[in-house]
Amino acid sequence: MTARTVFFFGNWTLQPDQEPDAEPITYAMQCAVCEACSAAVEDVTDAQGWTFRHAGSNPSHHTYREVITRPWRAWMAEPPPVGG
Ligand SMILES: [Zn+2]
Repeated sequence: MTARTVFFFGNWTLQPDQEPDAEPITYAMQCAVCEACSAAVEDVTDAQGWTFRHAGSNPSHHTYREVITRPWRAWMAEPPPVGG
């Protein structure tokens, strides 16, 4: 899925929020072994740095999950004119 993905459901449109006031996309890394999670940050390399520190202090924890929080917007289209 890309940030250009658009979904339609009836009159509703759902699209990633790319407005200037949108919430930032954030990244976190979670350990799949012990469920520990990094802070949610805007720079994915910060989250990846947490992974190296966590693996360094927990050498048996080898599997992780990337958790991406992406803002979306949903809005309803104008209804069609009545009576044409
Ligand atoms: Zn862990």
